[in-house]
Amino acid sequence: MNKSSEKLKQPEKPGADEYECPICKDTELVLKRDEWGYEFASFCECRERKAWKRRFKQALIPDEFIHANFENFKRSTQYQQDMYDATISYLNEFAVIKHDNGTTKKILSDKNLGFIAVVGEQRLRELPAGERAEAKRQHNNFGVGKTHLQIALAKRLIKDGFNVLVVSDVTFMDELIQAKMMNDEGETLNRLLHSAIHADVLVWDDIGKAKWSEAKEALYYKIINERYRKQKPIVFNSNEDRGTLSEKIGYAAASRLLGQCGPYLLEVEGEDFRLKGA
Ligand SMILES: [Zn+2]
Repeated sequence: MNKSSEKLKQPEKPGADEYECPICKDTELVLKRDEWGYEFASFCECRERKAWKRRFKQALIPDEFIHANFENFKRSTQYQQDMYDATISYLNEFAVIKHDNGTTKKILSDKNLGFIAVVGEQRLRELPAGERAEAKRQHNNFGVGKTHLQIALAKRLIKDGFNVLVVSDVTFMDELIQAKMMNDEGETLNRLLHSAIHADVLVWDDIGKAKWSEAKEALYYKIINERYRKQKPIVFNSNEDRGTLSEKIGYAAASRLLGQCGPYLLEVEGEDFRLKGA
């Protein structure tokens, strides 16, 4: 709508077409009448849809994975099938129970789900130059579908009613470090930490990618340990392996992160499907 028509309409009440939901005028509540004719407030049918949209927006799903789902995940190799199976059975550990009185109870998995490398980036980088290329080819961990699958999982969980936060390691760690240096009595840092610690599910893409620092190591531990204490799961993927992940995020954080996976820790390597244009 342009400015002038907005001005013209101002004295009037907004028309029905200005609401996303004309039924409840975006209040998400409607008045209904019971069998004796008494009015009572009830949730509008648009409430679920809007709640889903809000959660989806808040989840910060990276643009390039907005269309990732379970249906379009390619399972052309055994390890992809294994990753898929693990993710589906992990998904089944979650449930939302809706009671008649309108309250809901969320059941979270108390385990983490992790896809890591057999031979980590850090280890490959330290090889003599002559061996590096061959080892990289043999132990490729890029483009195998880790992020795709975990975003598909995130989207399904959001749909089911969970608050999911997706963070990308390098960006997120930079943000935390910047917040730490801000002169606002820790307000920004606390806000970032709070959302990472309290989200029902935290999806941590590419964990261990950021350059190591002592400050980052402390932040990794804080988030991972707090979530562990609250029994809240972390879904993560990394191009590092069990050993090199410790070097990148600290031994204490890595051992808690990996130790909380149970059967849901998969070491994957294979062809880079991005190179095949798949
Ligand atoms: Zn409505």
